[in-house]
Amino acid sequence: MSKYAPQEVERKWQEIWEKTGTFHVEADPSRPKYYVLEMFPYPSGRIHMGHVRNYSIGDVVARFKRMEGFNVLHPMGWDAFGMPAENAAIKHGVHPAAWTFENIDTMRVQLRRLGYSYDWRRELATCHPGYYAHEQKFFLDFLKRGLAYRKKSPQNWCETCHTVLANEQVIEGCCWRCDNPVVQKDLEQWFLRITAYADELLDDLKLLEGGWPERVLTMQRNWIGKSVGAQIDFPLETPTASGQKAVTVFTTRQDTVYGATFMSLAAEHPLVAELIAGSPEKEKVLAFVDKVRNMDRIVRTADDLEKEGVFTGAFCINPFTGGKMPIHVANFVLMGYGTGAVMAVPAHDQRDFEYAQKYGLPMQVVITPPGETLDAAAMAQAYADPGVLSDSGAFTGLDNETAKARIADFMEEKGLGRRSVHYRLRDWNVSRQRYWGAPIPVIYCPACGVVPVPEADLPVLLPREVKTRPDGRSPLPETPEFVNTVCPVCGEAARRETDTFDTFFESSWYFARYASARKADAPFNPDEVGYWLPVDQYIGGIEHAILHLLYSRFFVKALRDAGYVAFDEPFSHLLTQGMVIKDGSKMSKSKGNVVDPDVMIKKYGADTVRLFALFAAPPEKDLDWSDTGIDGAARFLSRLWRLGTEELAGLLSAASPCAAFSDAELAALPPMFKELRRREHLLAHKAGSDIRERFQFNTAIAAAMEAVNFLFANVAALRAEPKGAKVVSSAMATILTVLSPMAPHICEELWQAMGHGDSLSERPWPVHDEKALLTDEVEVVIQVNGKLRGKISVGRDTPKAEVEKLALAEPNVARHLDGKTIRKVVVIPGKLVNVVAG
Ligand SMILES: [Zn+2]
Ligand SMILES: [Zn+2]
Repeated sequence: MSKYAPQEVERKWQEIWEKTGTFHVEADPSRPKYYVLEMFPYPSGRIHMGHVRNYSIGDVVARFKRMEGFNVLHPMGWDAFGMPAENAAIKHGVHPAAWTFENIDTMRVQLRRLGYSYDWRRELATCHPGYYAHEQKFFLDFLKRGLAYRKKSPQNWCETCHTVLANEQVIEGCCWRCDNPVVQKDLEQWFLRITAYADELLDDLKLLEGGWPERVLTMQRNWIGKSVGAQIDFPLETPTASGQKAVTVFTTRQDTVYGATFMSLAAEHPLVAELIAGSPEKEKVLAFVDKVRNMDRIVRTADDLEKEGVFTGAFCINPFTGGKMPIHVANFVLMGYGTGAVMAVPAHDQRDFEYAQKYGLPMQVVITPPGETLDAAAMAQAYADPGVLSDSGAFTGLDNETAKARIADFMEEKGLGRRSVHYRLRDWNVSRQRYWGAPIPVIYCPACGVVPVPEADLPVLLPREVKTRPDGRSPLPETPEFVNTVCPVCGEAARRETDTFDTFFESSWYFARYASARKADAPFNPDEVGYWLPVDQYIGGIEHAILHLLYSRFFVKALRDAGYVAFDEPFSHLLTQGMVIKDGSKMSKSKGNVVDPDVMIKKYGADTVRLFALFAAPPEKDLDWSDTGIDGAARFLSRLWRLGTEELAGLLSAASPCAAFSDAELAALPPMFKELRRREHLLAHKAGSDIRERFQFNTAIAAAMEAVNFLFANVAALRAEPKGAKVVSSAMATILTVLSPMAPHICEELWQAMGHGDSLSERPWPVHDEKALLTDEVEVVIQVNGKLRGKISVGRDTPKAEVEKLALAEPNVARHLDGKTIRKVVVIPGKLVNVVAG
């Protein structure tokens, strides 16, 4: 037979799978389902090694679960809206749609060339009206349910991208996409009320324990950031002109309230303007407010920020001590968290401590470490740990946790404040001032206000005929055919919303759409979505640990409450695969260390690229690309090919993997074949549990390599014994079956070469025989009077009397029996000989 020619072999099998619809699936309630999904790609133009790794991992899981008898859904699609399409349009003068669909075509060819077992009939692109029409309907439902609303507020704004960004999309003060600094801008925007689900999003993380990496659960927990504490009202010394009588703070440390000596407000706090009206401090405060407002939020919350502030000239009263507290505006207090006002307890909060030191404000110790005393004047830093209350009125002497509850009770009784829960999580701003996105289905009427587009008028199509602007601004506001419409309520001239949805809107529900990807009149067929969802195994990068996963979890809960789906969490199990690195850093164009999958496929074939991506590291670890590594994978597949087509040619027949043998057949096998059979069954067993339980594809592949090496090393001996031919065929069949999820094409071809008439992709995972795992020889330990004195190796079926004879003859045992009388010998076959002598 010919030399291994991966290009031909791979094309042949891809055509067969395609033609026979091997990977097409339908919901079938009579069969157990398994839904494996890799995070869908943005159609940037070409796939990269990170994609190859991600999808190869998913493909092994999909193929393996099929072999285990599951009805496996394994789809692929495109996260097709978004800014790069617009930027490319500006740069190259092509329409974003043309650019996007061309990229999709290229990348689809690349993915098909890798032989992934997708049901391509379910392919979807989120920029298609057949997709976004449904999410416009979701938005109308959310609007009805109060889950979508419009609000003017300071927003993260990227000057380069000309759009707002969600908090989740601001990374260390910069735009997640273009890395430019983000500024604050007051804008009227659409929000989804994700905070309505804050508690459920937090509580349901428990359902994901064991299924999601602990690290991701922690990141989600921290992002939601639930704090339990109290709101306390600090009466103003003088009520304001508008009648404001108090400053309300949120604190988780009400146990320190007796130590509150001054008040810090955020620059944006609405009270600031009223407090300084007519005050001599006015100009100074306004200048400071202006400076702080333009500072980056991230900088303002950093621990190492130089604490700065200014006295407003106004005072409030600590309702617990009656003390007068000067009110300051401080740069480290933010409006978005809590109430934008902080009761400053400098003895027990480090930021307040630094601020008080700088401006010479009073400090009062109210918590002391058990058995110690603290002197405010001698403190080098705040004491923030637990302790016992001091100088705290009736609460003095209580431990601080007890005091939290007692003070909260007292406060509620006396009307000084109330228990309160705060979240770090903010509502999700979904408005984007960009063209290439799904239009938000809303109309503005001068008479009727905000009017939802009637359901019957959906979808609101994104117009194709627009002139993209060189400065990147959305052309939609200047497209009269789009903007000008009539009010569905009063019939008068009205204006369409020109903002489009954040693209995370599309990726928050695509996984459910795959269940009924071609259904036109509704987003889902309830039976199909009920059968397939949730996703059993989701696979993607850790960089999505917060944004995409949190939005998707929220979306599922919101869709559930709107009656679309009946499950609570979208992804039962999550695998976050490591990065592909080369020469010590992540592959990137700027580093010049990119390896192009296409080049590798042309040189080695898809099976080699897949095998290397799976073999070089366990999935969750970073994969270090090496040329010797991929050479090694190529050499192994060539050896496998030679084994199947030359070395064992003529010997192989269409035996099943882990073929059945009668006792008589087994008894007649020479030892070499028994050993081969033992290794074969061990491979089926070990590779199966490595993949099933731990996704350790690398060790499964290593086990197959060992089995191949054993065959190679013993070719002559294996050929010499005709009685063993069936064992050799069975072993080869097992090797091919086990390797087929990783390197499917070559395995199919060699399987066919063995004389099999079916496709390996339709085969079950081989079932090993426990008995076949046993070696012929067993080790027996020998004890004399309860002490270990020797070991012997005997045939498994050696009669007891023979074992006893061999045990007594073992030299060390014989020495310990010398001069003694043997009183009793107990033989436990295959394990132990116990001799009692005296
Ligand atoms: Zn940007
Ligand atoms: Zn109207």
